[in-house]
Amino acid sequence: MEKFQILGKYPDELRTWLQAQGLPGYATKQLHEWIYVKRVRNFEEMTNLSKANRMLLAERADLGFSEPVHTSCSVDGTVKYLFKTHQGHLIESVYIPEDDRATLCVSSQVGCKMNCGFCMTGRMGFQAQLTAQEILNQILSIQESERLTNIVFMGMGEPMDNIDEVMRALEVLTSEDAFAWSPKRITVSSIGVHPGLLRFLEESKCHLAISLHTSIPSQRLSWMPSEKAWPIEETIKVLRNHDFSKQRRLSFEYILFKGLNDTPAHAKSLIALLRGLECRVNLIRFHAIPDSPFKSPDEMTVHAFSSYLNAKGLKTTVRKSRGEDIQAACGLLSTKKAGQ
Ligand code: SF4
Repeated sequence: MEKFQILGKYPDELRTWLQAQGLPGYATKQLHEWIYVKRVRNFEEMTNLSKANRMLLAERADLGFSEPVHTSCSVDGTVKYLFKTHQGHLIESVYIPEDDRATLCVSSQVGCKMNCGFCMTGRMGFQAQLTAQEILNQILSIQESERLTNIVFMGMGEPMDNIDEVMRALEVLTSEDAFAWSPKRITVSSIGVHPGLLRFLEESKCHLAISLHTSIPSQRLSWMPSEKAWPIEETIKVLRNHDFSKQRRLSFEYILFKGLNDTPAHAKSLIALLRGLECRVNLIRFHAIPDSPFKSPDEMTVHAFSSYLNAKGLKTTVRKSRGEDIQAACGLLSTKKAGQ
């Protein structure tokens, strides 16, 4: 008989299952405390459950955690973790320590269908969806788990293309009855897959980051095939009609490619597109990938682009590049050379 997997279940689902096994309803709270607060990894240590119940759980259930299979450490403190999924695929997560923050960038799919021209994950093609259990495992099974202050869904895959499992993972992460994380410490990124995006806006209070990269639709289409199905101008319309005043924050990710989207004309067009939206722009210098026509701009261009936007009232930050030496930087995640 297949064992019941506890990680990734809604508190209600766990309660129903426990009661069906003859355990009291309050065992749900006890189990959650052991898993998410005390962080034990086997039933034997859950000493406020009776010995008989601990044995029953060990027989019929799995906590559902699995350790990373490989770790790479950058000179800048960034750590890239490789996990094996239940189907045997490999996925990556990146731990990024910085001053008083410790962020984990998690994957939501194995590979990606979206095929963005500048992205190593896109080159892998799509291989599989991750389950909520596999998403949560990335957060809970790394050495630094208890130190994390922020989680970003910006690893492999397009989160809105796996919305059922992503929403389930977010629900477990933020539920008072489970992990109890504040949605303010979680950011989900998307290139703007509308069905998933609409559901996310409706049901989640986590922050949203839209991968924009250029405000010119024809240029965006040439880099990001998804522009055809979900044009950025439509995405902006959806965002304009949404009330972001309640807790959620909106940002735009903009990778700068040398000579292609880093000119004053692009900066002006960006300001026009986002005019009136309460948002922030995060600029990311492109990280060169093999056999790619895209190049990385120099620091002066990045600085000039950022200063122009800020001077025009569009709040803009330049994101520091992290983990480039271990292929953990933005757009470089790919398990093609896993373990090397
Ligand atoms: S940039 Fe994001 S959406 Fe595009 S291919 Fe890469 S992982 Fe997929």
